[in-house]
Amino acid sequence: MIPIIETVFLRQMASGDRLSLQVYKFIGKHPGKKVYIQANLHGAEIAGNAVIHQLIEFLLTLNETELIGEIWLVPVCNPMGTNERSHVFSPGRFCFYEARDWNRIFWDYEKETNDLVAFAKSQLHLHQDVVRKNYLTKIQQEFRKVSEKVHSPSSIPYTDQFSYKLQYLSLDADYLIDLHSATNQGLNYLYYFPNQEESAKFFRLDLGVLLDKYDGDAFDEAFIKPWLALAACFKQLGRDIKFDLEAWTLEWEHPTFLNVIANATKWSVRVACRRL
Ligand SMILES: [Zn+2]
Repeated sequence: MIPIIETVFLRQMASGDRLSLQVYKFIGKHPGKKVYIQANLHGAEIAGNAVIHQLIEFLLTLNETELIGEIWLVPVCNPMGTNERSHVFSPGRFCFYEARDWNRIFWDYEKETNDLVAFAKSQLHLHQDVVRKNYLTKIQQEFRKVSEKVHSPSSIPYTDQFSYKLQYLSLDADYLIDLHSATNQGLNYLYYFPNQEESAKFFRLDLGVLLDKYDGDAFDEAFIKPWLALAACFKQLGRDIKFDLEAWTLEWEHPTFLNVIANATKWSVRVACRRL
């Protein structure tokens, strides 16, 4: 299977160099779930790019009928961070210009909306798939307002522009994986959200950090929190609803990343086969 490769322009540097994202879209013959995987949001954490390289090599061996749904891959998802250098070090965690952590800048619909309860009431007796579609439409409509700011003549700071362009790619995903890597002294673990305990086992990591109360506008949080908030609203109204959406951030030490490659690959296969 040959991917569709899309180039998303980010910015032009003072040197004249133009920075952009490369998106590799593997799209199966039959529609299904959308998996979104990115790597290198923190500039020094480059091991995830090798994971994506392995995934691309694997997906190239499939034909279109073997994949149901689609897998979008974004290596080097933050070229500004990747290019950061301080003497011989590559920090890459904070935007030098704006002093913001590259993974604390994302737009969270949960914080924008004030009519969640009213919306949940209006959807209370609808099928879960319809609720999902209607809510996604609401999120996308609100997200378009950010787009207006990004494209206005006065514009907005670069980190906001960047977060918009990156987040736009994954807004309608079903499963999202953000590949990070710690220093070579770090532990291997993943961040996960409520109700993801069973799926977490697919990664075969010994440690996991449950993100329930904490909220830092990280990439995975911005994706999943609006859906968790809606599910909580439904619960208050007496209906249990669980959307089939999941978000993960993987953190690991370099020498063992091959293990993660295998697990991430299996994850994708699992997702692709879900609807067989
Ligand atoms: Zn990181």
